[in-house]
Amino acid sequence: MNYLVTGGAGFIGSHLVERLLTEGEGVVCLDNFDDFYDPKLKRRNIQGALQNPHFRLVEGDLRNEGDLERAFQGMKIGAVAHLAARAGVRPSIQDPRPYVDTNVRGTLNLLEACRKNGVRRFLLASSSSVYGNNPKVPFSEKDPVDNPISPYAATKKATELLAHAYHHLHGLDIVCLRFFTVYGPRQRPEMAIHQFTRRIHEGQRISLFGKGESERDYTYIDDAIEGTRKALAREHGYEIYNLGESQTTSLLQLVRMLEERLGKKALIDILPEQPGDVERTFADIRKAEERLEYRPKMKIEEGLTRFVRWYLNEKKD
Ligand code: NAD
Repeated sequence: MNYLVTGGAGFIGSHLVERLLTEGEGVVCLDNFDDFYDPKLKRRNIQGALQNPHFRLVEGDLRNEGDLERAFQGMKIGAVAHLAARAGVRPSIQDPRPYVDTNVRGTLNLLEACRKNGVRRFLLASSSSVYGNNPKVPFSEKDPVDNPISPYAATKKATELLAHAYHHLHGLDIVCLRFFTVYGPRQRPEMAIHQFTRRIHEGQRISLFGKGESERDYTYIDDAIEGTRKALAREHGYEIYNLGESQTTSLLQLVRMLEERLGKKALIDILPEQPGDVERTFADIRKAEERLEYRPKMKIEEGLTRFVRWYLNEKKD
């Protein structure tokens, strides 16, 4: 089958592209190589895929309907994995418009293109951020998600709702995956694990907001891709799944573990909590375990060791 992977040059997208190609599937990647972070990194992410005859790159933008039409031409698409988005919580507070443009309007354009081109299967990358400051832990798909605390989170919730409307009206088969802070090789450079690793390694100061007490459920990229692959392999009607490890790590613990692996002490500035940042994320993954046979394997201790090894290796190139 041929898959259209939007955002296929990004962090999670490029890993999914590789996984699908390894399994002998065809992949069309639609990506606009925006400058949210260095586009050279995204080109590098898909260097290997470009050698594969079953891979086609469409450089284009979700916001442009003509670009979307190009993506659906050439190879008959059987399913769409929609990973392209403007990501990041804090920048969405300073500059919310690109978030609504790409995440909401872009997703609507893509759903319309699926309808027009008769593509029924649609996987949507949602986010743990939709839970906001959910008082109940762990976070379950059944919990209300009506109180996002950042524009980014609000756009992710909006995409789940739009996808539901297309399921109801046009019979699209939809699966929404709420990713919980994914990390591993190629992680976006502004995300905490990558940024702290770089700064500690280079002897630069790091800012810990809210005394480093906030907690995250960190998901290793291989586990996230395994769950995504399993979700792509079946029909859902309309379903939402949490994909996390169901274990939490505080920011301060994270820094300590990175210090150990880098063999350097972090220079820490403690700053007040940031508006928009949630206090904790913690995934209840029982639904994904039961229905997708999702079995995350990576403990944070080993995942960070692998990340640091990858990072130091990249520095050498
Ligand atoms: P990423 O920024 O590395 O990848 C997104 C890709 O989308 C980029 O290559 C970018 O160039 C592309 N893109 C952005 N706007 C586009 C547009 N208008 N048209 C076409 N392409 C566009 O991000 P990521 O970390 O790989 O995240 C992938 C998806 O998973 C996103 O939807 C994100 O919201 C979601 N998500 C990620 C995490 C995480 O921890 N990384 C957590 C929760 C949800």
